[in-house]
Amino acid sequence: MLIVKKFGGTSVGNKERIFNVARRCIEDYKKGHDVVVVLSAMGKSTDELIYKAKDINPNPSKREMDMLLTTGEQVSVSLMALAMGALGVPCISLNAFQVAMHTTHRYGNARLKRIDNDRIRNELEQRKIVIVTGFQGVDKYDNLTTLGRGGSDTTAVALAAALHADACEIYTDVDGVYTADPRLVKGARKLDVITYDEMLELSTLGAGVLHNRSVELAKKYGVQLVVRSSLNENEGTIIKEDTGMEKMLVSGVAVDKNATRIAVIGLKDEPGVAFRLFDALAKYNINVDMILQSVGRDGTKDISFTVEEDVADDAAAVLEKHFPKSQYKEIKMKREVAKLSIVGAGMQTNPGVAASMFEALYNVGVNISMISTSEIRVTVLIDEKYVDVAMNAVHDKFSLAD
Ligand code: ADP
Ligand code: ASP
Ligand code: MG
Repeated sequence: MLIVKKFGGTSVGNKERIFNVARRCIEDYKKGHDVVVVLSAMGKSTDELIYKAKDINPNPSKREMDMLLTTGEQVSVSLMALAMGALGVPCISLNAFQVAMHTTHRYGNARLKRIDNDRIRNELEQRKIVIVTGFQGVDKYDNLTTLGRGGSDTTAVALAAALHADACEIYTDVDGVYTADPRLVKGARKLDVITYDEMLELSTLGAGVLHNRSVELAKKYGVQLVVRSSLNENEGTIIKEDTGMEKMLVSGVAVDKNATRIAVIGLKDEPGVAFRLFDALAKYNINVDMILQSVGRDGTKDISFTVEEDVADDAAAVLEKHFPKSQYKEIKMKREVAKLSIVGAGMQTNPGVAASMFEALYNVGVNISMISTSEIRVTVLIDEKYVDVAMNAVHDKFSLAD
């Protein structure tokens, strides 16, 4: 069997944990399996590197940031190889360049395009454990790139797909995928199994337990995933196409604080306004999420939308550049907002789910400022200060707790 095992930052955060991971991998190796290990940077070291960079230059070049951040994963893989070496097991660490993992050119958010298998296959044939850096790649000019925060999960799934692995295991610091972030909701319950589609929505909507693109890839290539703890032997959560069971009405609640609402007030109520506004943002590569347009009144209307927090200033600047002040009254920006979402495949066939969510929010006095839905999710935008109370209220409403 070929097994890809990915371990996150906390799981390799210190010497003891590095040896713990080494032993878990060696166990599989000794059973005769081929083992490919993908690692994240140790503990919070990626955050620390970002802090150091910004301390030196508050507006760092994206290329140099990737050059810097890719060192974090290189530290973990080499230390892991040293640990396995100390335990007497043949192994080798490889970075993205050595593998090679080819990506697009977009620093900070590159996409994997192709992975060369030969080097890894060769090393496995020599009965070595192969330890690969997560989160990084190489563009066509040999620049180092990164896949976006949390991207090591995507490296693991992409490797599992490329190598036709028999299993892809994501080890983290919680026991699996829960009905809500167990650090925010006390009664959150671990799920035994969840579909790709539900997991994709949850991770896109803020459940940081998996990088959303890893789920996208897993679905595309049919890679079954298991998310479990590196710190105990508990069974984790399986992520696959169809759970074969009755669909859960709501399988999880997610929250994303990384949103900013921008409202353009007093736009002319005439054809083409929305087009020009969003076209300008698109041309500057600014991703818009929720959108709300008010009913026109006295020849004017308002358009509000949300963007990720770190592009909010750019978004406002683009609008000011493309919309002369005569075309609207004002632009208002609110950063202290959060998206709260419920996800569940059973929603498609059960009316009233959204209403129940709104009732739960009403019961705790939380106002909703925007709503958006898909077949299997409802998202509301709320004031960030109510996130905890709102999340718990919605979680309780759908009886997701144990
Ligand atoms: P790693 O370093 O192992 O990749 P992450 O910090 O990226 O770990 O992801 C694990 C964290 O995800 C957990 O500690 C937990 O707080 C958070 N999380 C958010 N939503 C969920 C959820 N629905 N289920 C489990 N964990 C979640
Ligand atoms: N080290 C990277 C990060 O902190 C990648 C990862 O952990 O998946 O975002
Ligand atoms: Mg992660």
